[in-house]
Amino acid sequence: QDRRVDEDPETVDDLPDYAEGIPAFANEPDTDPSLPANQAWAREAIERAAQPGWLEAQSVPRQFGADEVDALTAEARAAGEAWAARPAAERAAVLYRAADLLAARRGHLISIAAAEVGKSVAQSDPEVSEAIDFARYYAHRALELEEVEHAEFTPDRLVLVTPPWNFPLAIPAGSTFAALAAGAAVIHKPSKPTPHCSTAILEALWDAGVPAEVLHGVYPDEREAGQKLVSHPDVDRVILTGASETAAMFRSWKPDLQINAETSGKNSLVVTPAADRDLAVQDLVYSAFGHAGQKCSAASLGILVGSVHDSERFRRQLVDAASSMIVDWPTNLSAAVGPLTEQPSEKLHRALTTLEEGESWLLEPQPLDDTGKLWSPGIKEGVKPESFFHKTEVFGPVLGLMRAKDLDEAIALQNAVDFGLTGGIHSLEPQEVRTWLNRVEAGNAYVNRGITGAIVQRQSFGGWKQSSVGLGSKAGGPNYVMLFGRWHDAAEPT
Ligand code: GLU
Repeated sequence: QDRRVDEDPETVDDLPDYAEGIPAFANEPDTDPSLPANQAWAREAIERAAQPGWLEAQSVPRQFGADEVDALTAEARAAGEAWAARPAAERAAVLYRAADLLAARRGHLISIAAAEVGKSVAQSDPEVSEAIDFARYYAHRALELEEVEHAEFTPDRLVLVTPPWNFPLAIPAGSTFAALAAGAAVIHKPSKPTPHCSTAILEALWDAGVPAEVLHGVYPDEREAGQKLVSHPDVDRVILTGASETAAMFRSWKPDLQINAETSGKNSLVVTPAADRDLAVQDLVYSAFGHAGQKCSAASLGILVGSVHDSERFRRQLVDAASSMIVDWPTNLSAAVGPLTEQPSEKLHRALTTLEEGESWLLEPQPLDDTGKLWSPGIKEGVKPESFFHKTEVFGPVLGLMRAKDLDEAIALQNAVDFGLTGGIHSLEPQEVRTWLNRVEAGNAYVNRGITGAIVQRQSFGGWKQSSVGLGSKAGGPNYVMLFGRWHDAAEPT
């Protein structure tokens, strides 16, 4: 389908029921923005989102108090048993139907993400594709669980999903789909800024046939309720995508918590003299400034080796590329950099407004209106090893440049951070690439490509070092669904 049409089927009667099985997995294509019909479709989605009161009219999760947690988890846990008892083929069919609904509601989902967090169509459209991919991919992995010989899979009964606000569609969808695919019941607690996005994902699941008792969208009325839910003995596992500090807080509430978390990053892209420099410039600016740098995967540092760093031309190209990005709210469909979702944090404010010793602005970031959220991209050079900017995740539109004398030093600078989420190299020299791949400490190591935008099945996504807590298996990869349970020896046939 290259021409987008929104149908919002209130009922699922017209969808295939997949009773005969599910088709082979294929990645869902993004919308083709070059078609005038699709431009009109996108404009409509954005204009709808900008209408006063439109967002408030969309559903949100129900609030719960601390005194309701026991009843909530007990109901979900009981429902989990029945859900797990269904054949995997039924759970897979429901996920495929949910994917069809997400595809039919693509424009609606884009509207919600624009209204709720100011996400541009260019950024939210791939998120919808990714959510659809997660549903279909995990459906297939669920079927495989039943095909393993000599071992039986027992899923978690109840999983708590706590997603982030920066990918308000794909990540809430992915974690929830995986748990459901495995056979667990889910309590989904949206991130504070994005309750409407989360609910739109859950609605697709309910409409596709996930019982309401198996899947709950809830929001704690105060911190006590949230803490009680996270530490509740009925919750077998917590899935978190968010800050390292949040993972630490959860564990302080319950030291033996089963938690799988994908957390912060401080990611860099190395450019060696053997790089295609035009491509490197393009990938650096997109990885640094796409979604205003609010991606765990974003490039925060460019580590430029020797003559690349010293090349006046390269640095000018970088500045030209960054300063030609249109920075605007999502109503401007040409915007390449959108607003921050929240006011800059203290760390980001420091990165946007101050220089540390040895640093200078190649391109100084500017606030573009009085909201405090719309900032033009910033590039600072002269970032020193071990400095604040070398080590700290800032989560915004600032790129720092560091000089390395050779590849060895570049790798050392890249690895000298506590995190290890994404990393990249631009080099057309195979030996350099091999050396780098052997030594880079990043869950996702990308060669001659940007370092954001992992694609389900092709680049499973997950961190290393302090970017991950108890992970091991990566989202969108072959063994992610297996995370949600345990294997037993198969019972001997009698
Ligand atoms: N999966 C996203 C990407 O590859 C990043 C997710 C995140 O920011 O947590 O860009």
